[in-house]
Amino acid sequence: MPELPDVEGFRRYFRRHAVGKPVRGVWADPDELRNTDPMRLRRQLAGRRFVRPRRHGKWLICPTTGPWLVLHFGMTGELHWLDQHIRHRHARLILQFPDGEMHFRDMRKLGGVWLAQGEDDLRQVLGPLGPDALRVSAEEFDRLLRARRGSAKATLMDQTFVAGLGNLTVDATLWRARIHPRRNVRTLAARERRALHREMKRVLEESLPHGLVPSRPDLLTASRRAGSHCPRCGTVLERATVAGRTSWFCPRCQR
Ligand SMILES: [Zn+2]
Repeated sequence: MPELPDVEGFRRYFRRHAVGKPVRGVWADPDELRNTDPMRLRRQLAGRRFVRPRRHGKWLICPTTGPWLVLHFGMTGELHWLDQHIRHRHARLILQFPDGEMHFRDMRKLGGVWLAQGEDDLRQVLGPLGPDALRVSAEEFDRLLRARRGSAKATLMDQTFVAGLGNLTVDATLWRARIHPRRNVRTLAARERRALHREMKRVLEESLPHGLVPSRPDLLTASRRAGSHCPRCGTVLERATVAGRTSWFCPRCQR
């Protein structure tokens, strides 16, 4: 499932291939369009050029010289640049340029495509979102966290707290900060809240060059299966469903 590092990878990919060129054609699967239809989308984008794309959390915002295209990748969304027209069965949006096509694929159709006409419209599309997890300062993170209650796992996964984290980045952050996923955030000491912010930033920054959360022992991503050991202390990792998601953690390091 795409998390902040994946979407940042898509942003760079989109910038590299699609910015500055005239849109020659638009094809869309109506099921993937959330606030527009294929004909309107085509009318709005044809002839436009994309300018520098932005990202907030897991949202990709692609402004043109006119309207803005907004993408969410859901569980299975991804971008592919193709030199020739081959429509994959999971293609949901195709943007045609003079030298190729940008394809948005989404097997499970849990992502979506929106149009926004500017900042006010964009806020409506994004809904209530916390600050971007990569950019939130330690002070703001602490202030927001102190206002929360509930498990650490659910809090970090909540996009209205900070935007961009997902199952893998949260499990890695909690393991590095030595905090149990079920720990109520109201009981965290200032030192633990600082550790969460610091480790969250490190997990994200170490993942960014890969365009995804890489499979690595020290991100707990190389060991998400029964019988795996904690890379720090060797204890067998435990698995639990917290906040509706499968969580891996070390029962010794994360009490
Ligand atoms: Zn351990």
